[in-house]
Amino acid sequence: MEVFTQSLLDQALALGKLFTKDGKVADYIPELSMQNPHLLGLASYQDGRLLTAGHADIPFTIQSIIKVALYSIVLEHYSMDELRHYVGVQPSAKPFNSVIELELSNKNVPVNPFINAGAIVTVALIHRVYGDRSREVIADRLANLIGRKADYSEKVKASESATAYGNRTLIYLMLSCKILPADLPVEEILDIYFTSCSFLVTCRDLAHFSFVLSNEGKDEDDRPILSRVNAQILRSLMASCGTYDYSGEFALRVGLPAKSGVGGGILTASPDPFGLAVFGPALDKHGNSYAGVRMLEFLSQALNLSIY
Ligand code: GLN
Repeated sequence: MEVFTQSLLDQALALGKLFTKDGKVADYIPELSMQNPHLLGLASYQDGRLLTAGHADIPFTIQSIIKVALYSIVLEHYSMDELRHYVGVQPSAKPFNSVIELELSNKNVPVNPFINAGAIVTVALIHRVYGDRSREVIADRLANLIGRKADYSEKVKASESATAYGNRTLIYLMLSCKILPADLPVEEILDIYFTSCSFLVTCRDLAHFSFVLSNEGKDEDDRPILSRVNAQILRSLMASCGTYDYSGEFALRVGLPAKSGVGGGILTASPDPFGLAVFGPALDKHGNSYAGVRMLEFLSQALNLSIY
């Protein structure tokens, strides 16, 4: 494959800047509505070299990108057959917080682990194994994936928690149809989920995370963080479900497995060992960084990155 250069990243950034005005920052979590919609950054990691452009060192909340790390933990404790009883592996046709999709899905099982219902079940499964240690286990997994210990934003977490009517609807619906056990500590599970979504990361961090997924689960020092098989499962799910009901269009435009978050980050993955991540908090209507997708599309074409 071809090589990332500073000039290409700069060109991608210049192109992306033309599109920040076309997106909208998330406002259903009040604290996220304070973000500057014109922030934009990207980072690549290849052959031991990290390249950045724009706001690659500005921290933002990881939001749904953490769902990749959460699912990586349950993959180590449950077989795929066991997991299917709680969360599926099919793309979603509705927005990431949809109630109707959960109501209409087979046996009310969330269709995949990257929509909110699926990630909440994933947290419940982590809690079943680790109980009170769950927060620490999740923080440690993220630290291994990004190469440093991340803090979380107490403000964003509190803001999400205070307004999470949708996520509360989803968890109670899953209790009512017995996907989750009646004795589930609901507020504790939600608290772990909101904390997980509030970790503060940068593009630079996500380029490391991306590299681990693309380097068969090993970090830049060749330490195994994920098994080769689990890295492949995560990449497959990112390809089919990572940008929600935009995943088909994303496959055409960018052609890389990816996971987006409403904080504005997009984490990519590839079968080739490089890392690539972008950040731009102005989102499209599916919850993906609008300019971020355009920057990735540009780089994918310039470097022939599509896996299809
Ligand atoms: N914390 C957010 C939520 O639960 C994550 C959503 C996202 O990034 N798509 O709504």
